[in-house]
Formats: sequence, C-alpha cells, structure tokens
Amino acid sequence: MEDMEKIVALAKRRGFIYPGSEIYGGLGGTWDYGPMGALLKKNIKDIWWKDMIQLRDDIVGVDAAILMNPKVWEASGHLEAFTDPLVECRIDHERIRADHQDEIEEHVKDHHPDKNDWTEPRKFNLLVKTYLGIIEGKQQEVYLRGEITQGVHVNFKNVVDSTRVKIPFGIAQIGKAFRNEITPGNFTFRSREFEQMEVQYYVKPDEKESMEIYESWKKNRMDWYLGLGIKEENLRFKDHSPEERAFYAKAATDIQYKFPWGWDEVMGIHHRSDWDLRRHQEYSNQKMTYRNPVTGEEYIPWDIETSAGVDRSLLMFFADAYSEGEKGVVLKLHPKLAPYKAAVFPLLANKLDLIEKAKKLYLSLKNGFMVAWDERGNIGKRYASQDEIGTPYCITIDFQTLEDNTVTVRNRDNASQERIPLESVKTYIIKKVESN
Ligand code: ATP
Repeated sequence: MEDMEKIVALAKRRGFIYPGSEIYGGLGGTWDYGPMGALLKKNIKDIWWKDMIQLRDDIVGVDAAILMNPKVWEASGHLEAFTDPLVECRIDHERIRADHQDEIEEHVKDHHPDKNDWTEPRKFNLLVKTYLGIIEGKQQEVYLRGEITQGVHVNFKNVVDSTRVKIPFGIAQIGKAFRNEITPGNFTFRSREFEQMEVQYYVKPDEKESMEIYESWKKNRMDWYLGLGIKEENLRFKDHSPEERAFYAKAATDIQYKFPWGWDEVMGIHHRSDWDLRRHQEYSNQKMTYRNPVTGEEYIPWDIETSAGVDRSLLMFFADAYSEGEKGVVLKLHPKLAPYKAAVFPLLANKLDLIEKAKKLYLSLKNGFMVAWDERGNIGKRYASQDEIGTPYCITIDFQTLEDNTVTVRNRDNASQERIPLESVKTYIIKKVESN
C-alpha cells in the first residue's frame, strides 16, 4: 500500500488524476483527469478503438445515450438484480458490503473493538437515479446507465438493418457508466462514475462454435494488455465457477491484475447466451432475431461480451509503469500510451539560434503527435521531469546542431543517447512508437 500512496501522489503532482471537485472537499467516488491523465486516457481509448474497429472487418462502433428508457433496466434485470448485499452496524449504523469481510473486521477493530453487532445482509440497488423534465411533479424518474452494454443490445436491430454486418459480428462502444458503489475506494479502482469499453460479439447459437469464439476473445484481450507492456507475471485469468456466474451465462472469466493491494478485476469476458436480446424482445415486443441471408435460418444470436474499465485499465498501466531509478521516478509507459511521445529542449534558454532551431523542430513534430517543450534549468532536470510523465524520447538542440544539423535523442528506459540528423527526427519517433 506504500506503493499505492506513491502512485496517488505522482498522479496528483504531475497532473494525471485529481480528486473530483477538490476545492469543495471532493465528492466520494469521483475523480478528475488532469492534462497528463486526459492524454493517457485518450490514448488507451484510441488504441482500443483502432484495434477493435479500424483494424477489423467484423466489428462496428456505436455511441449510445447515457439516459435510457427505464424499461431497459427492467428488461436487463438491473432493477431487480443489480444489488450488493449490505450489512449495517447496529452500533454506529455504518453500512458495509456483506462480502467484504476484511472491511467489517477493520470497522469493528477501529471503532468499537469490544462490540460486534450487525444486521442481516440487505440489498441495495446500484443504479443512480435522476429526473428528466422541468415541471416539479411531472418529472420522469430515469437512471444514469449502470453499464454501457444495454445501449448496444437495444440497437442490435438498428445496426443489422442499417449496415452490412453478418453474424458473427461485434458492436463496440466506449462510454461513461454510473453506479452507487457503497464503498468506493482504492483510488480510481472503484468509482461512482467511470468509463467502460466493450464489445458485444454476436454469434450463432451453437455450443461448440460459441465456446471457441469465447476462448479466442480471452486470448485476444490478454494479448492486448501484454502487447501494451503489462508484465506477464502481473496478469492472470480468474474463471468464474458455475455458482459464481449468472444463471444464463455459459462461461465467464475476469482478467485480473496484481494491484498494490492484491489481485483484482480489470475486465470481464462473458458468454451471456441470448439472455439480453431475448429479454429485450420480451419487454419491447420487438423481434430481436437475425436471419442468415444465405440459409434463411432465423435465431436470436448469443453474445460473447468483453467489458473493460477504462479507468481501471489506466490505473493498471500507471501502476505497472511506475519505477524508481537512481535519479527519481521513471514512468515506463508503452510509447503508444505515453502522453507525450517526445520532448524538445534547446540546450540553453538564452541563445536565440538554439531556441529558433528547436522551436522549428517542435512545431513540425507537434503536427504529428503530442510533444513537450522545456527550456528551464539544466538538461538533467528536464530529463527527470519527462521521465516522471513517461515521455519516451527527449531531443536536444545544441551547438553541434547549428554546425551539422544533428541532434541528440535520449531514450527514457535506458538513458542511452544517439545522434541523428535533424530532418529524420519525425520519422525516427513515429517508427519507434509504432514498432514498440
Ligand atoms: P466489481 O466486481 O469489481 O464490482 P463488476 O464485476 O461488477 O466489478 P462489471 O459489471 O463486469 O464489473 O463491469 C465491467 C468492468 O467495468 C469491470 O471489469 C471494471 O473494469 C469496470 N468497472 C465496474 N465497476 C466499476 C467501478 N465502480 N469503478 C471503476 N470501474 C468499474
């Protein structure tokens, strides 16, 4: 947990993550991303979107509304089942999740070690309520979506009818979700407002074929995190036993990461059978079937879902990249994830020739990717500052540059330096970032 404190402190100090509405004392379970955090988050989502939609022919993207007709949540079962069982302390009325035994013990130990008296577990709905309409009394009660999944399922027919998708195909979405988490915590890990990135992959209702597709998604998602640099020993699958998973689910697993507090879920891969589409068909009275254009066969497809938290993924990337070198913190983010791909330094701040040349390079690089500029203090301090935010390459314009148009490129991970022609800097960096 000491590591966690360091991570939280770095995130705040360097503009990755701040407590939500901090100047008013905060709001439990909400976080704001600062300039570096917003870039890192955008990079995660952009890479995901590219891998899911741009590079594949079998997945399309949607962007559905956060507010949905409340019937959606009846159909999906969230109004009934989206609950955490809570126990209440009879002494000071603190409520804690019944399955969080360690928190219950800690509460007793910290507040009244000689008394231990709890109610039976009671259910508590996690959906966040709000109201639409301006006239008091005529307002409609609605929910902020508790997961982004349903915005995809309710558009299944629309997508089939308006595009050329053929089963098997996926619908991908990235967006915010809201849950009245009882005990938000572990930094952004459990928040009340968070972002998800999901693919609902619709397949033919066939036991064998659907299980093969489920297995291939497991591998695909694990490889994605490994490819973005997460250390293999820090990732694992945690399969759900038949008792743990929903009654309609045919298989389910979580990808877990070894966070500073222990193994915990980053994403889920679920074989959900035809549960969601069948329920929407029942509650909306609209047909949710798919007709094979060649064979004429008609069925409600099964759904293999991959659901990842953007914030949890970011926290994992951040924690995994955190390292302490001799000269301070180095955030060894995969170059594709790094907020800035490069930084440009004129060796001295008061030499016009150097500044001019460096500015020209800076502006030409900026057109292609995010670049930092720094002319303060000595070069060593500037390197250390970029290391903390994970900038993979620092380029210095010095007196030799004025003579022969070469620059030094310094590598974040091994502090090695190379001299390359000024004119090749842009392609050098693009190549390095892409090939990593
Ligand atoms: P948990 O058991 O940790 O509450 P869950 O199993 O309810 O999570 P899902 O409903 O499967 O989570 O949601 C899919 C993903 O959305 C999770 O793997 C996680 O990355 C993310 N997620 C869910 N709840 C939160 C939250 N409160 N804060 C941040 N991310 C969340």
